[in-house]
Amino acid sequence: MGYGGPHAAFFATKDEHKRIMAGRLCGVSVDANGKKGYRLTLTTREQHIRREKATSNICTAQVLLAVIAAMYATYHGPVGLRRIATRVRLLTGVLAAGLRQMGYQVNAGSADVFDTLTVNRGRRNLAQIRGAAEGNGINLRYTGDTGVGISLDEAVTVEELEKLLAVFGAAAGEIDIEALADEVRLDYDAPFQRRSDFLTHPVFNSYLSETEMMRYIKRLENRDISLVHSMIPLGSCTMKLNAAAEMLSITLPGFAHLHPFAPLDQAQGYAELFRRLEKWLTEITGFAGCSLQPNSGAQGEYTGMLTIRAYQIARGQGDRHVCLIPASAHGTNPASAALAGMEVVVVATDDHGNVDVDDLRAKAEQHRDRLAALMITYPSTHGVYEQTIRDICKIVHDNGGQVYMDGANMNALVGVARPGDFGPDVLHLNLHKTFTIPHGGGGPGVGPICVAEHLTPYLPNHPVVPGVGGEEALGTVSAAPWGSAMILPIPYAYIAMMGEWGLQVATEIAILNANYIAEKLEPHYPVLYRGVNGRVAHECIVDPRHLKDTAGVTAEDITKRLMDFGFHAPTLSFPVPGTLMIEPTESESLAELDRFIDAMIKIREEIREIEEGRMDHDNNPLKHAPHTAEVVTAAEWDRPYSREQAAYPAEWVRRGKVWPFSSRIDNVYGDRNLFCVCIPIEEYA
Ligand SMILES: *Cc1c(COP(=O)(O)O)cnc(C)c1O
Repeated sequence: MGYGGPHAAFFATKDEHKRIMAGRLCGVSVDANGKKGYRLTLTTREQHIRREKATSNICTAQVLLAVIAAMYATYHGPVGLRRIATRVRLLTGVLAAGLRQMGYQVNAGSADVFDTLTVNRGRRNLAQIRGAAEGNGINLRYTGDTGVGISLDEAVTVEELEKLLAVFGAAAGEIDIEALADEVRLDYDAPFQRRSDFLTHPVFNSYLSETEMMRYIKRLENRDISLVHSMIPLGSCTMKLNAAAEMLSITLPGFAHLHPFAPLDQAQGYAELFRRLEKWLTEITGFAGCSLQPNSGAQGEYTGMLTIRAYQIARGQGDRHVCLIPASAHGTNPASAALAGMEVVVVATDDHGNVDVDDLRAKAEQHRDRLAALMITYPSTHGVYEQTIRDICKIVHDNGGQVYMDGANMNALVGVARPGDFGPDVLHLNLHKTFTIPHGGGGPGVGPICVAEHLTPYLPNHPVVPGVGGEEALGTVSAAPWGSAMILPIPYAYIAMMGEWGLQVATEIAILNANYIAEKLEPHYPVLYRGVNGRVAHECIVDPRHLKDTAGVTAEDITKRLMDFGFHAPTLSFPVPGTLMIEPTESESLAELDRFIDAMIKIREEIREIEEGRMDHDNNPLKHAPHTAEVVTAAEWDRPYSREQAAYPAEWVRRGKVWPFSSRIDNVYGDRNLFCVCIPIEEYA
């Protein structure tokens, strides 16, 4: 339960709506050898291309939780799930029968319940029931003057049933649970009785022992390049170390097993953790208030825009709807602004990758009566510290707007500079980037917003739990009062263990590492943008676009070839199409940086062979990358380069080869033929 989260939710839709579905969709495509391969489809691309017309702002989702849920179904299968559900139905039925035997009215007499009962307290007083329940370590739901809500799951024991009955006044031995269990009906009446099969796919019927399950999971895991193998240089994603010591605490029962609506006096440890974490985050960012409720950066953006909106409405400026967004912004920015009811106006960037201040001024003045906000990323997604950030904020403020800062790049600022000091009114942090919550694969995350004093009254509250958010709160952006509470001990531990000094040094090393990579790669791949002092921030964009003309090689070819070296790709084609954005973070050692640089240089040499005609233009290691074990060990090999060059392009690859599982995947095919990952059973066999 994790005191409210993280959690995954699922929805399904008819075929006709699938192309406008929100969120992250996995689809099936084919690889260069005609084999099936899975990939994210449509939505990721759509967000960056469709911008404010995207149907969703979701970037970080709840992938890990979705995987957990899927593994639950995989392990138990249809038989196990039915058994679990039947046990829940049985336990609930026994409790209902026992309570009825004692004279209580339960669920207004309805028999068709699954796991939840609403008990009318009858003659007993609620305080008495509540006192007895809490005395036994049980929290129930109290609705109005007379209702008590109880939900059971399959983990409930017979002893706990006895305790529950005692809470309602049963004397020892008064209710014969065994006897009631024999009488409870386990099937459902016609409209509710399921007749169709479910989970018929072999994956739900093959791994039913822990040994099999363990190997299945490991097999899937082995298909991924992850941080356990090598640096993941994904720019803007901040793939840094998620230290074991930080993550240890999330499985502690006190954090993991608390219900989000548990009485506040039972959650004082969490309360203290929130209080301290909010204080640290506002100190680090230089703001006055903080909301931990948003579950991702994009949700933070949405919340921040609603906060601005609530503030402006309260001041009689409800017609301010225009949101300025630089062309270089992450796709979530325009999508979030649109979701919050704003009208997006794009601001140009200049030749050096900076916001075009003249264009910004012109647009701010043009829309001054309706200007709501500017959304700006600092340091920019171009990997440079925008020198004019103070002027930019002032222009927006002078024209009646608020400044929203996308803080996804805070790994370049923590301990070095405070955004609150140079102009923005609100920013989000990605605790799953800068503050070490692991987000590989797509989440969970936490995207708290920090706000200046004047916005604090509008921070989100909660309809059930008091004491959350501001006095004039904008409402709620998450079903749980503190969003994904259970993973907050991770950033808490990070900040606590790093301390002031550690956080600052981490930022400095992150910047140093990025500049080291930029300098080492510059002779081989031009670095697209630099600040006025010739330096980059915590990431850099390298530009291989000219190689298309000289060798027919694209940035995508380079990312695929990196897989043969055992590296995950850098960020591809964002924010500048056709380029690569590299962010090493402070977690990488000099040796690892050198290994990555070596791979990039070796790839450049392979490209030079093509340029100089020593290697075929279309039949070469880049175009065929990545190379699977199947391809390299096939009986046939008719390529103009050796198998050794394909699979072991550097000496150090021999120390620990990560074999790519699919050859080059067909992106267009995957987008055109959108279908779900449940491949037909015949193909599975
Ligand atoms: C990651 C990122 C976001 C979105 O954050 P999520 O937590 O993935 O929703 C927004 N802007 C920038 C610049 C980012 O790098």
